[in-house]
Amino acid sequence: MELSTFAKCIIVLVGSNFASGAVHDWGYHHGIDPEHWKNEFATCGGKQQSPIDIKTDNVKFDPRLRKFNFFDLILHRDVKVKIQNNGHTVQVDMEDHTIKVTGGGLPGTYIVEQFHFHWGSVDTRGSEHEINGKHFAMEMHVVMHSDRFSSVSDAMNITCGLAVLGFLVDVGRENPYFEKIISHLKEIDHINKTVTLDKFRLASLFPRTDCYYRYYGSLTTPMCYESVIWTIFKEHIYISEKQLNKFRDLGKIPGSEDMINNYRNPQPLNHRVVTTNCIESFSSVCAEGWKTGRKRRRCENYAKIYLRTILSLSRPIFHRR
Ligand SMILES: [Zn+2]
Repeated sequence: MELSTFAKCIIVLVGSNFASGAVHDWGYHHGIDPEHWKNEFATCGGKQQSPIDIKTDNVKFDPRLRKFNFFDLILHRDVKVKIQNNGHTVQVDMEDHTIKVTGGGLPGTYIVEQFHFHWGSVDTRGSEHEINGKHFAMEMHVVMHSDRFSSVSDAMNITCGLAVLGFLVDVGRENPYFEKIISHLKEIDHINKTVTLDKFRLASLFPRTDCYYRYYGSLTTPMCYESVIWTIFKEHIYISEKQLNKFRDLGKIPGSEDMINNYRNPQPLNHRVVTTNCIESFSSVCAEGWKTGRKRRRCENYAKIYLRTILSLSRPIFHRR
């Protein structure tokens, strides 16, 4: 049986937040590579690691997962941000440390601290999460910490201390909202370079956020603490090839090899269950092995009755394409 969010989030220390000197030596293509992180950082070899490959046939509908409340994020239209090249990614730090996110099945209020990106050298890879074995060109992570803690580093070794909003990015039309970040990438062409924007609205980057996947996992970089409530939105973000190439250009500079193909491969799901707030098919609520023939039809009939009851009680979002 799936544990409730409350049960999963009983405070447990999942590692020391003391960062040893070696933590700076990890990398994607130099230093300690992702396949060897677990040798140096034991927490990277845990049983609830991220990212994962989301097999949509195995995703379970959870009527307790409600819509996110991004009202505060939408209200913060003109936030001062600092864009930095940290040698592993382009990270955008919010100078205003009061932006709250609630709802979305989170066990309380979470504060947005930063967002960053993972991208590939070709359009068919770059994202960390996969959907049914498929990679995407890029992934954006909005990193938040529980308001019970003062920062991501304070919360990152406590169960459910962090919540990350993951957005998969596809190549398509030019995205004018991303241009505000991308137009400054050439100014941060070396590690530790930063540039400050006086007015930025993070909500402008978000696609529709009605439907999402939920699971419990880890940071995708050392120390890989298993402290993260993960949300992967079903709706993707689109940016143009030309815009994506500006990110890729950062990885072509000598000494900046980690600024491209900067993603970790999917980790074993083990006994975890991925849930969703949107129903894609009634069979998504049927048990494994009940997906064919008469058993499937019987299960779907039960599921329809069950869902009708749940829908009338809690009115979750009913998603149809
Ligand atoms: Zn990330």
